[in-house]
Order: sequence, then C-alpha cells, then structure tokens
Amino acid sequence: MPESAEASRMLARADHLKASDNPAFIALLDQLHLREARLSDEQRLLLKYLDAWQLDYLGDYRAARTSLTAIIREAPDARLRFRATATLINVLGAVHRYEDAFVQLNQLIEQLPRVTDRELRWQGLGEVAQLLTAAGQYDLGKAYARQMLDVIPPGETACKASYFIEHARYSSGQWGKDDPQAEDAIDDCARAGESVFANALRADMASVLIKAGHPAEAAALLEKHYASVRHDRYLITTLRFDALLAQAYLAMGQSGKARTYALAAVQASAPGEFTDPLRMACRTLYQIDQQRGDYKSALGWHRRYMEADKGYLDDVSAKALAFQIVKQQVQAKKVQVDALDKQNRILQLKQALDRKAVEASRLYIAILALGLLAIGLWLLRLKRSQLAFMRMAQCDSLTGIYNRKHFMSEAEYALRYAQRSSRGACLVLIDLDHFKLINDTYGHATGDQVLRRAVAACREHVRSTDVFGRLGGEEFGVLLPECGMESGIERAEAIRHSVAILSDGEDPGIPVSASFGVACTGESGYDLRQLLMDADQALYRAKRAGRNCVVAGKQGEGVVVA
Ligand code: GH3
Ligand code: MG
Ligand code: MG
Repeated sequence: MPESAEASRMLARADHLKASDNPAFIALLDQLHLREARLSDEQRLLLKYLDAWQLDYLGDYRAARTSLTAIIREAPDARLRFRATATLINVLGAVHRYEDAFVQLNQLIEQLPRVTDRELRWQGLGEVAQLLTAAGQYDLGKAYARQMLDVIPPGETACKASYFIEHARYSSGQWGKDDPQAEDAIDDCARAGESVFANALRADMASVLIKAGHPAEAAALLEKHYASVRHDRYLITTLRFDALLAQAYLAMGQSGKARTYALAAVQASAPGEFTDPLRMACRTLYQIDQQRGDYKSALGWHRRYMEADKGYLDDVSAKALAFQIVKQQVQAKKVQVDALDKQNRILQLKQALDRKAVEASRLYIAILALGLLAIGLWLLRLKRSQLAFMRMAQCDSLTGIYNRKHFMSEAEYALRYAQRSSRGACLVLIDLDHFKLINDTYGHATGDQVLRRAVAACREHVRSTDVFGRLGGEEFGVLLPECGMESGIERAEAIRHSVAILSDGEDPGIPVSASFGVACTGESGYDLRQLLMDADQALYRAKRAGRNCVVAGKQGEGVVVA
C-alpha cells in the first residue's frame, strides 16, 4: 500500500476507535506521529484534531482549546472546521466557559440545516444535545438526540444517540427502577462495544437504584463493570462509580468499603473542580465519621462537602443562566433584523407615495410605524430582562450586594490595579456574632431582616470605590483600595459601631453585633487568597477575644477591643 493511503487508513481507524478503544487509539496516534514528517497537510491537520480530541478526553482542556481554535482558523476543509467547533463546544463546557460554549453552539445550530454529511450531522447533533441537557433543557436535548437516529453514519450504531436520549430522561427524573428503555440503551451500547456510554448509563442506573432503596443491586452493578470503567480512563465516570459505590456500601452498613471508594473519588478529583461525585464522596465521608463518633474529622469532611456542594450548584446555575443569556441575545438580534427590514419597507413605500400621492397608503404607513414601535418596545423589554439576568448572576438576592463569585473577581481586579499603581489596600472580613442564636430565638425571617439591616449599616461606610459582597451565610467582605493598616482598622471600627447600635434601633432586644478581621497588602501582599486567609485568621482571633471587636494583621498585632 502506498505510504499516503496507509496513513489515511490509520487515521480513519484511529478516528473510529477514539472512544470505543482508547488505548488502541493512543497506540495508533503514536505510530502516526512517528511518520508525521511524511503526512500531507490535510492528514497532519486531521492528526492534530485527533490529538486535541484526546487532550479533551484526558481533561487537558487548555491545550485542547488552543489546538482546536488553531484548527478552526487554519483548516481549509469545512468538514474538519465543523468537527473542531463541535469538540471545542465540549471543551468550553468542561472549562465552565458556558457563555462562549452557547455562542459556538448557536453557530453550529445555524449551520446544521446546511450540513448533509451524515457523520458531521451526527457529531454536531450530539454536541447540541449534550450541552442543552447539561443546561437543564432536557426536552430540547432529547429532541436533538432523536434527530441523530435518522443519520447514523456507517460504522456507528444507535448507541450514542440512545445515550443522549436516556441521559436526558434520567436527568429530568423520568427513569424508574427497571426502566426497560434505559436497559435497552445500555445493552445496545455494550453490544456495540461502546463501553464509555454503557458505563455512563450504568452510573445513572446505579444512582436511581440507590435512591429507590436498593443499594445492594447498585453495588453489584457497579462492581461488575468497575474494571471496564478503569480501562476506559474517562475521568467523570470513574469518579461517579467510586462515589456511588461509597454511597451504596454506606447504605448497606459496610462503612470500611464505603470509605475506601469515597477516598478514591476525592483523591482522583482535580483540585478546584467541584463535581457532583466529589460532593457525594465528601458527604459520605462525613456521614461515616459521624457514625463512628469522630466528630472532628466529620466536621472537616462536612466543610469540604459544603464547599463542593456550593461549587457544584453554582456551576449548574451558571450553565442555565448562560443558556438564557445567549438565548436572549439571539432573540434580540432577530428582533433587530426584523426592525431594520420594516424600516426599509417604510422607506420604499414613502418613495412610492411621493410619486403617486395615494392618500390611503398613509394609513398603511401608520400601521407599519406602529408595528415598528411595538418591536422597539419589545426590544427594550428584552434589554431590560437581559440586564436583570446579568444582575442576578452578580448579586446576592437577599441583600442586593455582590455575591461571592462577583466579589472575588472585582476584588482581584481592584488588587491588580492597586499593585500596578503601588498603592496599599485592606480586606475586611465581617461575621455576625451568634447569628444562629438569633435564628433559633426569633425565627429565620427575622434572621433575614437582621442580615439586611446589617448590610445597610455597613453600606453607610462603604465608598463607591470599595468592593462589598456577601461571602456566605452571615459573612461579608469589604475590599478597601488606597488604604493602609491604620485607616483599615479605623474604617472597620466605624462599621462595627454602626452594626452594634442596631441593637438599640427598631427592634430593641435583638442583640446584633459583628466581629472583624482586617488584613492589608503591606503585610500580606497583593494575592487575594493570602489576604482572605490572613483576614480570616484575624477574624478567628476576634471571635476568641470575645466578639464584637476588630482584630487586624497577623498573630498578636493590632488588637482593638470595643
Ligand atoms: P459566631 O459568633 O461564632 O459566628 O456564631 P454564629 O452562630 O454566627 O456562627 P455559625 O457560622 O455557626 O452560624 C451561622 C448561621 O447563619 C447558620 C445559618 O443557619 C445562618 N444563616 C446562613 N445563611 C442565612 C440566611 O440567608 N438567612 C438566615 N436567617 N440565616 C442564615
Ligand atoms: Mg457568625
Ligand atoms: Mg459564620
């Protein structure tokens, strides 16, 4: 066989084996790289695409993204560009760039009606179905996945389409125990040798079994296919298997095994990534330690569980929000195009009128103008709801100040600016004292009221250049730019006083106060995480010193007791 035809055959085979036999795929990639110098430009770009696909599969998203963007820019072949866009959507989803992902997705959806090639349609529809399901648009996701069944390319089976359909049904809570449609999909995928998809559905199935009170069945299912999941090396399914096994064994009273699997899930999780399996595993570890009476360790796992839970839920709502934002943008664009079109027609009519001076047509113009006005008003409303979505994404709903995520990004920005202009800045952490007691004594609604009042009291001292946000329950942060340690303490003290006198206000009798930790760049540097850690340490010492006071700086310095 001539060299070039042989290389094409190997590329096609590698392409086909990507997900079904990943180790064989990697071996083929290695061989292809050895002869890379002799490949044609087209072959080299396809190899580059396959490399990027593998980087995505292994979770090296940054490298995958760079490579795919280059292919989309460079590849003369529209087919390869379309495929790279589809894979890029997958990568953008994985790195939580959901708005970018949905923008790309819209472009893909717009191209889809013109794409007749079965393989391309198949891959494009798959990406669309997957991202829509991840954003909670289950019916849309299912509808796109069903279209895949009409274009199954040669060499493929219905497995991938069935997977997306069934995963959307599972995600929207439509699976029951012993769901025949789900079992058929798993069997189809297993028969087709698509173990990655079969195993992902098995994890869904095990999760349903555990929730329905059949942990032993779930554990048996997961154990049976555990080796196959390890062989696939697909991280998220591996994590799910470990976390689900841990849950199942805990429910069966086998806490030793439960612990081993839960720890495996925690250890294999990428640092800073908050996934559903990580949150499940931390919760299981917390429950195990609690049962054993090891409360200290239980508390540690509970903290990690809360952190993972919050991170995961933030991520879920970020996906849904990005979908809504992009949907609104697309709608707004369509309305704008409509409006332009109407405007053109009015102009044309006017010209005709000048010539013929037909009185009656004026009425038509008036009607069109009214239509234009209505569209204008609708556009305004859309803009407003877009802005409301933006605000929702940035602000805390109870107090109206920045939420944690937005606070962190604004504070990082302010700190970078301070560093560039060599100015100091201080971070003040505020935590209300004995707030649980207020909730327990006066009820949650009063607790909320106190939170709002405390924020209003803080606001009296917050300047327009300060960054003020709610970092969690009853904890707040204020970043003070252009501020040294001494004035940082003074400003914290002023806020402390305003909060403390709330006790004498509208509801005398409710004891309100807060403790303060201050850290400044002079001592802690410009890294936000370090500032947060130092301020948190100071806050801890303020609590130990009896609460309702300000403590600043590192160990033992600048204690100001009220
Ligand atoms: P400490 O002085 O040591 O800070 O004691 P604390 O009771 O304030 O500390 P802890 O962090 O244990 O309690 C915080 C409480 O805040 C627990 C939670 O019920 C309550 N909380 C968190 N978010 C909200 C909220 O949005 N509204 C209300 N009413 N309570 C909340
Ligand atoms: Mg508190
Ligand atoms: Mg607290």
